[in-house]
Amino acid sequence: MLVVYSDRHQLHDPRHDIQGGVPADMVERPERAERILNALQASDTFEVRAEIDHGLEPVVAVHAPGLIAFVREASDSAATGMELFPDTFLHPGVSAGMSLTAVEPTDLTGRLGFWCFDTGTPVRQGTYAAARAAVDVSLTAADLVFDGEKAVYGLCRPPGHHAARSVFGGFCYFNNAAIAAHYLAQRTGGKIAILDIDYHHGNGTQQVFYAREDVLYVSLHADPRRAYPYFSGHSDETGTGPGLGTTVNLPLPAGVSDVEYLNTLDLGLDALTRYAPSVTVVSLGMDTYVHDPLGDFALTTPVYAECARRIAAIASKLVVLQEGGYHLPDLGENVRQFLQGLSGD
Ligand SMILES: [Zn+2]
Repeated sequence: MLVVYSDRHQLHDPRHDIQGGVPADMVERPERAERILNALQASDTFEVRAEIDHGLEPVVAVHAPGLIAFVREASDSAATGMELFPDTFLHPGVSAGMSLTAVEPTDLTGRLGFWCFDTGTPVRQGTYAAARAAVDVSLTAADLVFDGEKAVYGLCRPPGHHAARSVFGGFCYFNNAAIAAHYLAQRTGGKIAILDIDYHHGNGTQQVFYAREDVLYVSLHADPRRAYPYFSGHSDETGTGPGLGTTVNLPLPAGVSDVEYLNTLDLGLDALTRYAPSVTVVSLGMDTYVHDPLGDFALTTPVYAECARRIAAIASKLVVLQEGGYHLPDLGENVRQFLQGLSGD
């Protein structure tokens, strides 16, 4: 299987995440991608390719130009070692009932609150370059599938599925999966599906395609009543307008077992089968793992191969993109199990 990887992810090396108002060690760090790469390189089943620069156009097709410009400018202006976090947010309650149009501030801290929705996603020197490289990884993987590969893995870092059209957060700056899915929808002129199996709901991906009928979004995730990102991912969110019925949310309880997870995956795969996409983009998160520090599911390593077998059985073409997964000791092996399951090994 072909693997697309960029060492430019190392340019984004955040140290802190503010959780519950308290600085914590950042779990979304370069070692994640290195662990996955090492696990795949230990097997001769995988061939690693570099990313190809696709320019800014595919990013602008999904994200507000102001968001892209802000991440670039904030990265450029951050001093060495400095991490930029917002301290205020553009909360809708502030302007409720006044029909005000929010104006982007000129102050850097104010702009952070305008473009970012949480305190887990610091901007540093190198963040923009790494986030752009992750997009190019996803687009290069999409090209390879478009050109005939059955399944290609893009080792994206930073991840992407929490980044919405005009706001970033959740360790994500640009939405790699949404950009790849939109790009494939344009190139193929056909229907594209996104299957999101990260522990967290992919609020950004859902938003980008919520009103579109040409991209199906199916997500298995922790119930947002107890888990990040809290404000999206309920089962009654099913799309709007022409996109009504093309969003499928399958929230799950804490402690979900391998068998319960596979049964829910089958429901998601039924939706995919009915939709009959030409290409399926998988947002692959390994924070569903039993030992993951951010999750509360009870999935074990062998289930990832079984998930992949079931996905490969119904999807003819697959672009698999890395999202979360933070238990470093088993992260590489869990990804390897999934990818080998896709190949039927
Ligand atoms: Zn996640």
